[in-house]
Amino acid sequence: MNNPVLLENLRCIPDFPKKGINFRDVTTLYKNPECMKIMVDEMYELYKDKGITKIVGIESRGFVMAAALATKLGAGVVLARKPGKLPATVIKESFSKEYGVDTVEMHIDSIDENDVVLIHDDLLATGGTAKATLKLVNHFHPKKVYMNFIIEITDEGLHGRDCLEKDVEVTTLMVI
Ligand code: 5GP
Repeated sequence: MNNPVLLENLRCIPDFPKKGINFRDVTTLYKNPECMKIMVDEMYELYKDKGITKIVGIESRGFVMAAALATKLGAGVVLARKPGKLPATVIKESFSKEYGVDTVEMHIDSIDENDVVLIHDDLLATGGTAKATLKLVNHFHPKKVYMNFIIEITDEGLHGRDCLEKDVEVTTLMVI
């Protein structure tokens, strides 16, 4: 069930970044100490017994809770970034978006075979970004991979979870 405090604090911006898109603005959750505590506590309950060693945060809104939860779990943080942002050698994965192609990159030495990995992003819509990140993470052959999102969008006919769930266990804090 959606936490009512999270629900009432989530801001929606109509027609951003373009007409017809109802953008869920998680910055109103991040700036609120009560919401931060609710999110980190809920995520901790979900993952405290999984032996997570690395949390992959997806640029850029995924970095916030990745860092907060990693501190509580005693895990490290790995950045999955847009092209050209990471300074050392990277591996990359491209994926199709509604208009054009996008790419996710990670440092080639960011994960190893002993890691148990949680991939985190703020929001799951079509699942394209998450799927590409999952492919990248699987290149490293970690022991196990989990995925978590703050928000899962289903009310616009989106079924991002369907393209992930056959490969990985997915949890979300809110379903809208
Ligand atoms: P997908 O690849 O699942 O279609 O889109 C999810 C990605 O786009 C995430 O990285 C997310 O940050 C961003 N995104 C798409 N729509 C929204 C939105 O309404 N609100 C926020 N906060 N992020 C969005």
